[in-house]
Amino acid sequence: MKVGIKHMMDFPLTLRSMLERGEKLFPKKEIVSRTLSGIHRYTYADYGQRTRRLSSALQTLGVKSGDRVGTFAWNNHRHLEAYFAVPCMGAVLHTVNIRLSAEHISYIINHAGDKVLLVDEDLVPLIENVKDQLGSVKAYIVMSDQKELPPTSLSPAYSYEELLQQGDPLYAYPEDLDENSPMGMCYTSATTGNPKGVVYSHRGIFLHSLCIGLADTLGLSERDSCLPVVPMFHANAWGLPFGAVWYGTKLVLPGPGPTPEVLLGLIEQEKVTLAAGVPTVWLALLKSMEAGDRDTSSIRAAVCGGAAAPRDMIKTFETKYNIPFLHAYGMTETAPVALVSRLKSYQEAWDTDEILDVRAKQGLLVPGLEMKVMGEKGEVQWDGQEMGELLLRGPWIADSYYNDERSQTTFSDGWLHTGDVATVDGEGFVKLVDRMKDLIKSGGEWISSVDLENALMAHPAVFEASVIGVPHPTWQERPVACVVLKEAHAGKVGEQDLRDFLADKFAKWWIPDRVVFMDKIPKTSVGKFLKRAMREMLKDTFA
Ligand code: AMP
Repeated sequence: MKVGIKHMMDFPLTLRSMLERGEKLFPKKEIVSRTLSGIHRYTYADYGQRTRRLSSALQTLGVKSGDRVGTFAWNNHRHLEAYFAVPCMGAVLHTVNIRLSAEHISYIINHAGDKVLLVDEDLVPLIENVKDQLGSVKAYIVMSDQKELPPTSLSPAYSYEELLQQGDPLYAYPEDLDENSPMGMCYTSATTGNPKGVVYSHRGIFLHSLCIGLADTLGLSERDSCLPVVPMFHANAWGLPFGAVWYGTKLVLPGPGPTPEVLLGLIEQEKVTLAAGVPTVWLALLKSMEAGDRDTSSIRAAVCGGAAAPRDMIKTFETKYNIPFLHAYGMTETAPVALVSRLKSYQEAWDTDEILDVRAKQGLLVPGLEMKVMGEKGEVQWDGQEMGELLLRGPWIADSYYNDERSQTTFSDGWLHTGDVATVDGEGFVKLVDRMKDLIKSGGEWISSVDLENALMAHPAVFEASVIGVPHPTWQERPVACVVLKEAHAGKVGEQDLRDFLADKFAKWWIPDRVVFMDKIPKTSVGKFLKRAMREMLKDTFA
């Protein structure tokens, strides 16, 4: 045999073939979507036709290859239609975070240069609020359950359902899209300044979608009933919608402002097997589950990421409710899944406490990516002790921010510098110690806010806890804990009780100097603790 350079097809990895597989092989499978008027159900056959109609309507409105089409929407079936309609026609899907400030919303729509904006009916007022600042938008499409366009000051505005009716259900997608062409973008909040844009390629999302279907990662498959609680405007809802359409997975989209009660109802009715959300979502679900008898027996994986999953919460889910927990780590810049904490086969024989320790780590690097953890003297020892910054590279890792000079600090030498401080144990499991900016430096030594938070959240009276470093005249910084007590315990547990609770778990100098009780902890637009706001609030504690 003559060995040449190339013996396999040069086949572009694009979303078109993912959509076509879903439509053709799973036409009977269901997509369930909670909308303002109730539960909407249809099949992948209907989905494929409506998605093609949307592409054809966008083309009629003048959308061309490379144009950005923004979405401003909850997790629902219309948003899912845009997820494939926009990239498959060669345009770029820009999922705008609906919870950002008006200033940031207009910044990112202008910065991305969105030509068309698809807006959920109930979110129209938020866009009306900023419409005079939007320079690039040529058309607004209002997504409503009704066919008629609801009254709006947006202009020109079109009704989504009317456009779809005029669209072509057989619209043919180009087969020659370059796999490296952009298919989507998402902005991530920066510590200071405007959000930063990440651009995803077809190839990156294709490979990421394959990755989350692997048995050793999330194992997403046709057999699942998948509930992405994580918003579709945040890091692609962790890639679940892309994988689900490809695999013919039943999707359950929770719609506008889903409460724990709504989510538990969907889990029961739709026999959800895999649900995904940030720790605050799971904590809120737990609170509702403890209040009543709910059937959650269908869940095979409670996927939790975006912030550290408290060990004690994992324990409650696994031991009290028999719900297998899957802790994962990622970033908007990593499409996002990069680490998943799945036990190795021989670890299953370990004792319960050791197993929980493993589950609470962020996990093993997923196949397809590479990592290193860089300490002060080079790569750290895999001893679970030495700390360093986590660096990642691979086919679904961004290599820059979109038109942003802040790229240089985050991306260098071919690696993404995550800004997360981690250790790696002898088995290769990564444990995040903290964000670099959240580590607390006291008397020249580091204190992990995450470890303290985890320990506090294991106290039976604590609902939520977040620990920050506050400037201190002697020690540079000292830890202060912000704590929300469970309603039944409010006023009954004091500062010293919690400090005593931590005493046998940490060195004395790690124990927070103050515990501040709050009604609620400020959160970011995606439900993480907003430490910046707490630092500002408490900055004079030791002054
Ligand atoms: P975002 O781009 O908004 O998804 O935020 C990414 C950041 O969230 C990461 O850099 C981490 O600091 C944090 N993060 C994500 N997953 C986890 C996790 N499982 N444990 C701790 N922090 C996490």
